[in-house]
Amino acid sequence: SVPWEFPKVCPSCGEHLQRSQGDANTYCVNRHCPARIETGISHFASRNALDIEGLGERTVQLLVEERLVEDAGDLFALTKQQLLEVLVSDSSNETLVTNLLTAIDQARECPLSNLLIGLGVEHLGPSTAELLARRFGNIEAISLAEITDIAAIDGIGPVIAKSVKDFFGDDHHRAVVEKLRNNGVRLDLVQGEVNAPQILVGRSVVVTGSLEGWFVTREEAKQAIIARGGKSPGSVSKSTYALVVGTEAGETKLNTASDLGVPILGEAELRDLLETGQVF
Ligand SMILES: [Zn+2]
Repeated sequence: SVPWEFPKVCPSCGEHLQRSQGDANTYCVNRHCPARIETGISHFASRNALDIEGLGERTVQLLVEERLVEDAGDLFALTKQQLLEVLVSDSSNETLVTNLLTAIDQARECPLSNLLIGLGVEHLGPSTAELLARRFGNIEAISLAEITDIAAIDGIGPVIAKSVKDFFGDDHHRAVVEKLRNNGVRLDLVQGEVNAPQILVGRSVVVTGSLEGWFVTREEAKQAIIARGGKSPGSVSKSTYALVVGTEAGETKLNTASDLGVPILGEAELRDLLETGQVF
């Protein structure tokens, strides 16, 4: 039998395929390759990224074939008329087009971390994208950041730092970002605080009960801890730095904390902790 070989040229555009070091997959280097554009846009619209419902593979394929979309930025310039003309043969249902336009419009308000994933910055995952978003607050600041600034973020290593720098050093990528901006896509939506002082790195602060003073919800308190580099797990252990209790606090957590000598804080002490990183 004939041994199977990796294809040498792209079946979509005929460009010679390349393989990056240490990677089993070959990829097409042609920026205008239809298959490559389709993959990029499908990734952009996928659930982990901008989660644009109704933008399935077949729809993307048709939009690329008709040259209505060359990159993710073009999605936000699509008109109802264009979509009806292209998609009508597959789905004569006008409602589908209306729903797709609504989904695209909603994606304009997408969190910055999801946008970074969607753009395809190599090596970036949901948690590292979130770290980047929280540190810099908007895509422009990220694109201007130096490798050393990026690598200085706790949880981000030199490989990701270089990948981010390379990504935004590329004219094509910058043009896509510009297109997104011009088409009304928000490039600065970050959950929680931006650039909070990293005073809780390596510290684990558990929150239990309902908070009703300074923080509206427990979730907000956890976000503030995480924004400062800390962790906020669901249970108390000997490595817990402090336990924050609201009303109707969990009995088990309280008992475990007092058995282990973990400091127990109220909301006022939590406020001090978030300002200083210390338990007094
Ligand atoms: Zn190709």
